[in-house]
Amino acid sequence: MKGFDFEEERIKQEITKLGAKRVLLQLPEGLKPEGLRLAKIIEKNGALPIISGDPCYGACDIAVNEAESLDVDLIVHFGHSKLLMHERVPTIYVEARATVPVDKAVEQALPLLSRHVKIGLATSVQHLEVLNQVREILVRNGKTVIIGDSGQMSYPGQVSGCNYSNVKSIADEVDAFLFVGGGLFHALGVALSTSKPTVIADPYDNRAFSIDDEAQKIIKQRWASIEEARSAKTFGVVIGLKPGQKRVDEALKIKNLAQKHGDAAYLLAAKEINPETLLEFPSVDAYVNTACPRISLDASGKFSKPVLTINEFMVAIGEASWENMLKKGLFES
Ligand code: SF4
Repeated sequence: MKGFDFEEERIKQEITKLGAKRVLLQLPEGLKPEGLRLAKIIEKNGALPIISGDPCYGACDIAVNEAESLDVDLIVHFGHSKLLMHERVPTIYVEARATVPVDKAVEQALPLLSRHVKIGLATSVQHLEVLNQVREILVRNGKTVIIGDSGQMSYPGQVSGCNYSNVKSIADEVDAFLFVGGGLFHALGVALSTSKPTVIADPYDNRAFSIDDEAQKIIKQRWASIEEARSAKTFGVVIGLKPGQKRVDEALKIKNLAQKHGDAAYLLAAKEINPETLLEFPSVDAYVNTACPRISLDASGKFSKPVLTINEFMVAIGEASWENMLKKGLFES
C-alpha cells in the first residue's frame, strides 16, 4: 500500500532484539490489506506471524487478551500512537505515517480561512510529519499559527478520536482550526470539542472544505437524543470490554445517579457496541455509553434508542447544563 510508512526495518530489529517467536499483527480497518505482506516479512525474519482479523479502531483496543490466549510474545500495533496503558504483552506501535504531499490541499484551504487570522493547527498521528510545512504555508499567507500541546498526547498538535486536549488548550486563542488529514472523523471531533470554525485539508483528495454544517447536524441530533432520554424509566449502562475503554467506576456512578433520580439502571458489558447488541434488551428505554464516546456521536442514527455519552446523561437528568456541556465538549470528561 503506497502512501504509508510501515517501518518494516524497525519491526524486524525489534523482533530480533526481543527474541520474539510468535507475533500478533493488529491493523485498523483500511490498513488490514497490508497484513499478508507484513506477515511474510516477519516469517522470513524467523518469527511466526498471526494477523488479528477483529476490527480495531484505536490504541484503546490493543489485542492483549487475544495475544495471551494465542501465547504471543509480541504485538505489533499499526496506525495509532501509544496510549498510557499497562502492557501485559510487549507491544510496539507503528504509527503508519503518511507520505502523501499536503501542500495542494492546504492551498485549497486558504480561501476558506480568509476571514480568520489566528489558526489552530491539528492532525492525526499519520500527518504529524508535515505539520511544520503546513505552518509555513499558512504563515507565508499572513496567518498566525498556534499548535496546542496539552501534555496529554504523544505529540503537539495531535488529536485522536476521543482526545482533543491539544486543540481545546488553544481554542480561546484562535479564530478557527485547520485539520490536516482524510475523512470527517477527527475534524468533526475538533469542531465539536472547540465550537470553532473548522476546515479540513484532505491530502488524499487534494481538496479542502468546512466541517461546520456537519458538526451542527450532530449537535442537533445529540440534543434530540437527550430530550428523548429525559422520559426514560429504564437505563442500560454500557461498559466497554476493550482494554482502554473499560470504565467500571464511571458506569457504577451513572447507575447510582439514575437510581437516585428514581429510574431503574442495569449494567451491560460488551466488546462491540452496535445496534444488534443493544436490540436484545427491548425493555431498556435509553443507554448510557461509558465506552468509546464516538459510538454515540458518529453512529447515532443506527440505534433505535438514545445512546448517550456520560456528559449527555448528566444533562438529561438535570445535573449539568447543555450550554456548559457544549463548552466542555460533548464527549470528554
Ligand atoms: S475510545 Fe473510541 S475514539 Fe477513543 S481511541 Fe478508542 S476507538 Fe478511538
